[in-house]
Amino acid sequence: MNDKVIFYAADPSALAQIKSKTYRARIGGKDVEAASGKTFERRSPAHDVVVGVYPECGLVETDNAVAAAKQAFEKGPWPRMSAAEREAVIRKSAQLIRAHAKDWALVESLESGKPYAQALEEMGWAAGIWDYAAGLARHIHGETYNQLGEQTMGLVVREPLGVVALITPWNFPLLIVSQKLPFALAAGCTAVVKPSELTSGTTLLLAKALEEEAGLPAGVVNVLSGFGNPVGARLSEHPDVDMISFTGSTGVGKSVAASAAASNLKKVALELGGKNPQVIFPDADIEAALDAVLFGVYFNMGECCNSGSRILVHETIAEDFVKQLVARAKKIKVGDPLNPDVKLGAIIEPKHKLKILSHIETAQKEGAKLETGGQLMKSPCGCYIEPTIFSGVKPQMTIAREEVFGPVLSVLTFKDADEAARIVNDVAYGLSASVWSKDVDTAFKAARSFRAGTVWINTFMDGANELPFGGYRQSGLGRELGKDAALEYTEAKTIVLHLGGRSPWLN
Ligand code: NAD
Repeated sequence: MNDKVIFYAADPSALAQIKSKTYRARIGGKDVEAASGKTFERRSPAHDVVVGVYPECGLVETDNAVAAAKQAFEKGPWPRMSAAEREAVIRKSAQLIRAHAKDWALVESLESGKPYAQALEEMGWAAGIWDYAAGLARHIHGETYNQLGEQTMGLVVREPLGVVALITPWNFPLLIVSQKLPFALAAGCTAVVKPSELTSGTTLLLAKALEEEAGLPAGVVNVLSGFGNPVGARLSEHPDVDMISFTGSTGVGKSVAASAAASNLKKVALELGGKNPQVIFPDADIEAALDAVLFGVYFNMGECCNSGSRILVHETIAEDFVKQLVARAKKIKVGDPLNPDVKLGAIIEPKHKLKILSHIETAQKEGAKLETGGQLMKSPCGCYIEPTIFSGVKPQMTIAREEVFGPVLSVLTFKDADEAARIVNDVAYGLSASVWSKDVDTAFKAARSFRAGTVWINTFMDGANELPFGGYRQSGLGRELGKDAALEYTEAKTIVLHLGGRSPWLN
């Protein structure tokens, strides 16, 4: 322990808001408890008090939820109504997220340890995605081919895929389900959602509000609180699930894909981990790059798939760049997520905190130089890690290759653009990357050479719902957001029309 970085506490009036909520799963339009009567609870990592109690759903509830989604797909109004009607419900859903934003942000802040002010911003981002998906609902259309000869006309129509299972992680609960669910709904699908057992609150609240406030028919969205095994595992192998969209770790993503293949070969979409580099050339706007590096690695305590957890700095500027980074990292306000000034809150849970600390230990053992941080903060619950920076990191070190998912930055250096691209691409992941240079040739050549789903030039973790998001290689499969996001949840059906008499095969 050390006391170099100050801990910012929250004031008593903020702490007085901490209360435990009791939730129900949502199946077939009803609030349900687990048939076993079992529940599990969530303690706020920042305060170590119970903030949520949830039904522990198992195989029975999972099968019931899939049956409800199947019934709603095969017999219910949702897939059959006009796109305009679906658009209206999805747009109303965006409004209800805004209406509940303050309460739901508090739920997320308490469950996850993220700063409340940030959670509140995320509610606005989530609502914006529902608005975008509402707009897409009326633009799902097929193609016609009228040039296939006098007697042939072809149509490609888009149909909803069916029952989709959506499995989400704990780091951005409402935001990540919002990258999937409104697009599945826009396509006319029905869904079973399994949020992380650590942060189930807002997804359960959303399901109830979708039906009771936005007018979504019963059974279209079902939400199960419970653990990866059995709930997520059962969804992955379920014969009546037509598609599974998973966001989480690469290891679990592989097991989801394997179960999907071994069962009914359901469609799989995966959003997985990253080891995202920011590459800084000597002609960069250094002020802007310094700030974006800090934001990139410390946003959401580094518990972010897009975390800019490694930077490559040109060797001629590296020493001074690191000096300035360290000075700024020490000024970051770490502390109680309910303090409005805090930028860095609590780590999600003790087990994950130990994983981050073990990465820090390994980095030191492998010869990286600890420039700042690296320790637990003195705090009421011991779940805060100092903003940490390692310099002298070599591409083969564990800290340069594995996802830490914590507030830990690795600084590597490079001589020229070719070497930078080699280092950038020499990891298993390829989610995102950035390049900093004022020279258009340098910036675009670098952007072309990086094998990543998103490359930013002179910015980081920036964008819009119009832009697709997803990973190369072991960072994922498929894309979310963008104009084709709803098409991911459709099948293409080819219809061939023959005009006039047909010449017989058998004379
Ligand atoms: P995780 O893989 O442990 O869990 C994700 C979800 O899968 C949870 O709901 C969990 O209960 C469920 N799950 C666990 N075991 C399962 C199984 N056997 N079958 C089916 N489902 C199972 O991930 P996490 O710790 O919640 O989240 C952190 C990870 O998520 C990081 O690796 C991060 O990079 C990744 N992530 C990726 C993106 C992206 O868009 N690429 C976004 C956020 C997080």
